[in-house]
Amino acid sequence: MVKFAGRMSRLGTESAFEVLARAKALEAQGKKMIHLEIGEPDFDTPDNIREAAIKAIREGWTHYGPSQGLPELRKTVAEVCGRDKGLTISPDEVVITPGGKPIMFFAILALVDDGDEVIYPNPGFPIYESVIEFVGGKAVPIKLDMKKEFCFDVDELARLVTPKTKMIVINSPQNPTGGVLCREDFDAIAKLAVKHNLWVLTDEIYSKILYEGEHVSIATFPGMRERTIILDGFTKTYAMTGWRVGYGIMPVEVAKAMTQLQINANSCTCTFNQVAGIEGLRGDQTAAQDMVKEFKRRRDVIVDGLNNIPGFKCLKPKGAFYVFPNIEGTGMASRPLADLLMNEAGVVGLAGTAFGRYGEGFLRFSYANSVENIQKALEQIKQTLAKVKK
Ligand code: PMP
Repeated sequence: MVKFAGRMSRLGTESAFEVLARAKALEAQGKKMIHLEIGEPDFDTPDNIREAAIKAIREGWTHYGPSQGLPELRKTVAEVCGRDKGLTISPDEVVITPGGKPIMFFAILALVDDGDEVIYPNPGFPIYESVIEFVGGKAVPIKLDMKKEFCFDVDELARLVTPKTKMIVINSPQNPTGGVLCREDFDAIAKLAVKHNLWVLTDEIYSKILYEGEHVSIATFPGMRERTIILDGFTKTYAMTGWRVGYGIMPVEVAKAMTQLQINANSCTCTFNQVAGIEGLRGDQTAAQDMVKEFKRRRDVIVDGLNNIPGFKCLKPKGAFYVFPNIEGTGMASRPLADLLMNEAGVVGLAGTAFGRYGEGFLRFSYANSVENIQKALEQIKQTLAKVKK
């Protein structure tokens, strides 16, 4: 048996990948499955971006690039994201990474010491808790409550801050609930961060997948720029999950530390994909906007359908492409119900507990699938539950 380093016992995972593997195994046995577990757009990357990558390969963008990211892409991120997020950004504050995820990993690795506490949303993206614990920090969950439309309870947040708190992680629009924080929430979180001298890691990977209102970055609040690390990227906005290009915006000193981590971990982000990223940000946005329109249509279908299933209660999310129905009315716990739906209904979703303990009583479905498949899935869930009830 391999004797792993102690820290490995503290490393978590994303069960979406494990559930996908189980569903694929059932498919290999001839079962038909409808996939509503995957956190990636089902659209192709827009043509202009694909062409830009092919051209970049032909032009020889196939060597190592600067570890912090190509200067032209950093300049583009600074300009375009600065405009979109309402910030003045210098290219020195931008780090390009293979997807948005390394920004999370590197930020926590660089700033969280042994015993430091980090407050993170729960239910939430499981990698926050995983990495906080991995580096020796203490992950302190803040419960996102359906009654509050999965927003922060700011009083609860204030109660969770101790002298050991180092960082708060926020994610809006949020995975898995689709919840969006409002201006008052950001204001209260910002005031708390300034008062207690905390870092804020703001995961804005779904910032462009928003159905109502305008995206707000906490970095725009007074006193926040110097304590905020923004995580964003191309994966969700431009259906580029497999390309692995993302970025972070942060104070220069932190950007330097992150660059050093990147030198140690991956040297640089794929060079020709970075060239394509420039086209993504500067080129025609129609395909990305059409994708959001289509997601909105599907959201309405799935929310209405879920609310028609006895025992399910579902809010209408304002962003991202997930729904997070409460399923307590079925009398079943999350995991057994998710398993039942996979095995009997042929519908693959995730148990809410895949996103932390406060996810009990919920399921997560991704609506990155066609309206036709979503309707079929809803019908199959309804029929399976009716059979179980008999
Ligand atoms: N943050 C959240 C909240 C996510 O849901 C995801 C992807 N599922 C990521 C970050 C990571 O995105 P990327 O593929 O760009 O690394």
